[in-house]
Amino acid sequence: MPQSTDLSDSYSAYFSDSYSEARQRLLELSARRGGTHWTYDIDQCSPHGEALSVDVLRFGPPEASQVLVISSGTHGVEGFFGSAAQLALIELKLEELLSVQGVALVIIHAVNPYGFSHLRRVNEDNVDLNRNFLTVGESYKGADPKYALLDGLLNPQSPPPRFELFTLKALLQIIRHGFQALKSSVAQGQYDFERGLFFGGRGPSRSHKIITEHLPHWIGEAERVIHIDLHTGLGPWGTYVMAASQNIPQSELQWLLGHFDQDKVQQLEASGVLYQIRGEFTYYCRSLFSEVDYYPILVEFGTYPILKVLSALRAENRATHWCDTGAPELDQKRQQLREAFSPASEEWRSTALSKTLRVIDQAVAALNDDSNGS
Ligand SMILES: [Zn+2]
Repeated sequence: MPQSTDLSDSYSAYFSDSYSEARQRLLELSARRGGTHWTYDIDQCSPHGEALSVDVLRFGPPEASQVLVISSGTHGVEGFFGSAAQLALIELKLEELLSVQGVALVIIHAVNPYGFSHLRRVNEDNVDLNRNFLTVGESYKGADPKYALLDGLLNPQSPPPRFELFTLKALLQIIRHGFQALKSSVAQGQYDFERGLFFGGRGPSRSHKIITEHLPHWIGEAERVIHIDLHTGLGPWGTYVMAASQNIPQSELQWLLGHFDQDKVQQLEASGVLYQIRGEFTYYCRSLFSEVDYYPILVEFGTYPILKVLSALRAENRATHWCDTGAPELDQKRQQLREAFSPASEEWRSTALSKTLRVIDQAVAALNDDSNGS
């Protein structure tokens, strides 16, 4: 563990400047620490022509009955933080984690490598992957009626102008509809506006198929899994919440409350920092297993105020669809999106990583407790 005097510098150093650099650093560290590595090409390239892939690392005994899964970059550009946390975890916590008998660690790096590499929250098809993991029987159709009303405000069909009145217009809508109702109806996921924000797709994405096919192999013999998917962009600066799917039973929520900070654990619902969503990634992972105690958790770190983040999302999406390829506005909007989801502030980075490592400590303790107890 770094000393407190140089925490900021040390933690900041885990952040990379690009998807490719983040991936390379993680793979090199994994090789030094004896990790098993699988790579899954998604048939897309980085802006510099490099192949993009979802990469999975596993540490610990093959027969481990308890597995900690840490995934990053489900929302592309949020992977700068998630990947840094994964790097820090392997460097600083791996030995401690593997000292617990019967425990293994699985790292899923860049669930959405395209968005990570191209500085988008969505994937190569404009799909929000945390709305794309619908479970069996759900259809890729529909949108909240309020979303249709707001489509013109959220997704204007023209390049971004020099001066923007989005915040003012959004505030008027908030006054008209109410903040919580608006947050839910906009962000829960929609399947009708393919160039719009929070679009969940027309069917399972490439990443969805990779997870479905290979996750059982990655977790192996696990009887219990804690799966933490790392996100940023919602909530007050540098604070976090641990959100469990609205669909998990109360007994499982109680288990989480018993093992993590109670004031951080909440279910995905409109009254909290987050909101109910369709097609949530970790809950889908849980749905693949009937015989595994699978705890799906979304850890969300706050960055900037919600309207600033939404404004950055809207501007980047607008520039993507309505600016010419290579237009300077597009790069500018993507850099602004990156800042909205991965602040350059050393103080933010240090705070977010140290808190994440504390969550990891709690997860390890939870696995340890149960492996000895029941
Ligand atoms: Zn996210």
